[in-house]
Amino acid sequence: MSTVLENALLPTYPPTRVTFVGGDGVWLTDDVGRRYLDFAAGIAVVALGHKHPAPLAAAHRQLDRLWHASNLYATEPAQALAQALSAKFGGAQAFFCNSGAEANEAAIKYARKATGRPGVLALEQSFHGRTTGALAVTGQPAKRAAFEPLLPGARFVEPNDIVSLRAAAGGDVGLILLEPVLGEGGVIPLTAEFVQAAAELAAELGALLAFDEVQTGVGRTGTFFAFEQLGVSPQLATLAKGLANGLPIGCLLVADEAAGAFAPGDHGSTFGGNPVACAAALAVVATVDEALLERVRENGARLLDGLRALPGVVEARGAGLLVGAELDRPAQRVVDAALDAGLVCLTSGANVLRLAPPLVVEQAEIGSALETLREVLNG
Ligand SMILES: *Cc1c(COP(=O)(O)O)cnc(C)c1O
Repeated sequence: MSTVLENALLPTYPPTRVTFVGGDGVWLTDDVGRRYLDFAAGIAVVALGHKHPAPLAAAHRQLDRLWHASNLYATEPAQALAQALSAKFGGAQAFFCNSGAEANEAAIKYARKATGRPGVLALEQSFHGRTTGALAVTGQPAKRAAFEPLLPGARFVEPNDIVSLRAAAGGDVGLILLEPVLGEGGVIPLTAEFVQAAAELAAELGALLAFDEVQTGVGRTGTFFAFEQLGVSPQLATLAKGLANGLPIGCLLVADEAAGAFAPGDHGSTFGGNPVACAAALAVVATVDEALLERVRENGARLLDGLRALPGVVEARGAGLLVGAELDRPAQRVVDAALDAGLVCLTSGANVLRLAPPLVVEQAEIGSALETLREVLNG
């Protein structure tokens, strides 16, 4: 039965033996009733844990009121969410869409319209999404190769290498696009020096600086936006994964200083700003308060320390609860064995184990995940 169902999906993901049917907090349940500790959170999406009461109640209330009206009219949740995100950002306007890739597409189009220039500087090993524009600025040649030619103008720079950044600069550049921590490319945190150099370069060139905070945003790294820790404020920021705790949503934020490039008709999305997704997101944003962020920072440090003490871990790095352990072996084998042992985790590139538990994870659960990983790495 389940083989038949799987064969009805295009095989864009590797085959899996596990079917999840339920979730509660940091726990998942499969179709035979087995429980798993969830240190993946649906790829850093279920920010507050499964069935968190705040977004759950907000989504239920909105489901009973209004599902969709289109962007030809105003709806209350999208307006309230835009205001809340603007306040977090320190003054911005929001465009809502349905995914991280779409949010980055909006950023690419915004920078093109604002500057009139097609050039984009992005990072080697970066990930910005699978649509053709977002893929064109993704610094992973293997993901691009079969689909070229893509959007022209993208050039790639070594993360944290200011010389490489300056060497790639040119008068055609309208956008510098950075992940504050490269989430899919090995969990590589950018240094404040590099990010500040990028901001200076953007100012020199008259380009816009954008942070792709699709994975790092909404408290994942211990501040609401990861860029808050880097001493720079960008003109553009994109959000998606954790924003609505698992309902599909994406967002481009345009800082007030860079406002005015889009006019009616320049961009749009039928489903973008969906009232149910925005109501859930508003509850998430309200829940990610300073107390929770402090817990994210503490538990992130605890997780990093624990990983450093495990066999086979060459280096552990990250920010908040976006954590990577570079291993002395392929990470996928470890992720598979951990799943068999009841722990859900992720890879990030060939040799990096990535952990991104719900932000509400507790100390005891971190201890238990580390124990499972120790057994797996010893075995
Ligand atoms: C996941 C991710 C994306 C793509 O998001 P989708 O919702 O899959 O389109 C883009 N950028 C970063 C940094 C991501 O982690």
